[in-house]
Amino acid sequence: MATTDWKTDLRERGYRLTPQRQLVLEAVDSLEHATPDDILTEVRRTASGVNISTVYRTLELLEELGLVSHAHLGHGAPTYHLADRHHHIHLVCRDCTEVIEADVSVAESFTRQLRASFGFDTDMKHFAIFGRCASCSAAHRAQDTDKSRTPTS
Ligand SMILES: [Zn+2]
Ligand SMILES: [Zn+2]
Ligand SMILES: [Zn+2]
Repeated sequence: MATTDWKTDLRERGYRLTPQRQLVLEAVDSLEHATPDDILTEVRRTASGVNISTVYRTLELLEELGLVSHAHLGHGAPTYHLADRHHHIHLVCRDCTEVIEADVSVAESFTRQLRASFGFDTDMKHFAIFGRCASCSAAHRAQDTDKSRTPTS
């Protein structure tokens, strides 16, 4: 079975990426959850002339071509993924900013219910869900226990 990488895929659709655009795409591939600024820093290691507006324009184009997609992990700039590996929900820890990737299937009963009740097709990938990760929860519980053991006057 042949797996088509993005280069073959583009060629088949009659597109060619300029070297700069290719660098942006490669940066998205190698960096995980990269913001446009992260991508710019990475691209500048090989092409120092690239500026942030080029990165934005290229990301827009790559998104139109269906090669990359973005997700919002917080209040700042969006972060970018290769579209074909972005099938997850982001669980962001408020305490340590760890990002857990959970397959969209974990929300299946929720999205099925929204479809049944509202005819709504939910995109769980676009925005992150905030909370506290397992280790921060454990640390928090331990702290609470400490407090109850040694009452402060
Ligand atoms: Zn992700
Ligand atoms: Zn968005
Ligand atoms: Zn955490």
